[in-house]
Amino acid sequence: QKITVTVKDHSYPIYVGAGLLEQAGEIIAPILSRPQSVIITDENVARHQLSRLEKSLTNAGIAFSTLILPAGEATKSFDQLQNVLDQLLELKLERSDKIIAFGGGVIGDLVGFAASIYQRGIGFIQIPTTLLSQVDSSVGGKCGINTPRGKNLVGSFHQPDLVLTDVTTLDSLPERQVRAGYAEVVKYGLINDVDFFTWLESNGEKIIAGDRLAQTHAILTSCRAKAHVVAEDEKEKGNRALLNLGHTFGHALEAECGYADTLIHGEAVAIGMVMAFDLSVRMGLCPQADAETVRQHLERLALPTRISDPKHALSNIPMTAQRLFDHTLHDKKASGGKVTFVLTRGLGQAFLCKDVAPDNIKAIFQQSLDAA
Ligand code: NAD
Ligand code: ZN
Repeated sequence: QKITVTVKDHSYPIYVGAGLLEQAGEIIAPILSRPQSVIITDENVARHQLSRLEKSLTNAGIAFSTLILPAGEATKSFDQLQNVLDQLLELKLERSDKIIAFGGGVIGDLVGFAASIYQRGIGFIQIPTTLLSQVDSSVGGKCGINTPRGKNLVGSFHQPDLVLTDVTTLDSLPERQVRAGYAEVVKYGLINDVDFFTWLESNGEKIIAGDRLAQTHAILTSCRAKAHVVAEDEKEKGNRALLNLGHTFGHALEAECGYADTLIHGEAVAIGMVMAFDLSVRMGLCPQADAETVRQHLERLALPTRISDPKHALSNIPMTAQRLFDHTLHDKKASGGKVTFVLTRGLGQAFLCKDVAPDNIKAIFQQSLDAA
C-alpha cells in the first residue's frame, strides 16, 4: 500500500507492506538516473536483512556498493559523517545518483544528512527497519548527527525520494526495540486520533507479536498522521511540534541516563507521555481518567510509565526533579528561555503551551520519581 507525502516543492511515496524488500529493486529502479546505487546500513541490519535487499537490487539489474557501519547511536557522529562522505567521493557518486539508507533511525538520520550535503545535496531512499524509523524518523526529512554537547544538534531538512517499509524486517528486531517503537505509534493516537488509540487498545499486542495486517495498518496510519503534520509545517514553526508529545520529558530522562541502554528513546517517550498527561491533569486541563487510560495501556504493552518503575532498572540511576527540570531548559526546542510543552485536554486532544510554571514541571518529575 502506498501513501504520498507532499512538502512545498517535493512529494514522495511511502510504500508499506510485507515482503516489499523482495520488490525493492523493481520499485527503486525507475527513480534512479542510472542503474547504480550505494546501500548504507549497520552491522545488525546487515547480518539479518542485507542479503534480501542485495538480491532484489541484483535481480533488477542495479549495481551497488555496500557500506556497513557500526550499530548504535554513537554512529551519528562527525567521524562517521566524514567516513560516509569520503566513501561516496571514492565511489564517484554523481549528483543525480541516489543512496539507500537501510536501517533504523540512526542510519536514516546520518545517511540523510550526508545526502543533504554531498555535492550540495543528492537524493536518498529510506528503507527503515525498526518500528520507530518506520512510523517516525523515515518520514519528514529531519536528519542529522549528535555532538558531544548534545543529540541532534547538527543537521538539516532533507526529504527522501522514496520510503519503502517492509514490516517483515521487524521479525529480526529485538522485542524491546519493537515495544519502544510502539510508544511512538501510541503517540499519534494520543495527539489527535482517539479512534486510532482505541484500535491500538485492542490490537497493540498483535503489532508486537508480528501480525502483518496489524503492523501494516499501524504503520500506514502513523505515516499518514506524520505526513499530514509535515505537509502543513515542514520546518516546525508551529504544529509539527505536536509530534514532540512526551519528548521534552523524555529527552530529560535520556540525558540523565547518558543516552545509554538503560533507557532507549521510545521507553523515555512512554514515560514522557504519561508525564504530559499527568501535567495536564495537574493544570486542570485533562480528566484524570484519560491519564489513567494511557498509563494502563502502556503498562499492558510492557513499557515503563514512571521513572521509579521497578521493572525497568531506571530506579538505580540517581536523578532529582531539579536536575531533570534543568534539562528541559536546554531542550533544543526552547526559545528565548521558554520551553514549549505539548499538553492535552484528553485522549486525542494535544495542544502546544508556552507557559507552564516551572513548579508544575518539577512536581511532575517528582511524582514520576516517587514510588507508585
Ligand atoms: P537504531 O537505528 O539504533 O536501531 C536500534 C537497534 O536495532 C540498533 O542496534 C540496530 O542495529 C538494530 N536494528 C535495526 N533494524 C534491525 C532489524 N530489522 N533487525 C535487527 N536489528 C535491527 O535506533 P532507532 O530506534 O531506529 O532510531 C533512533 C534514532 O532515530 C535516534 O538517533 C533518534 O534521534 C532518531 N530519530 C529521528 C527522527 C527524525 O525525525 N529524523 C525521529 C525520531 C527519532
Ligand atoms: Zn521520538
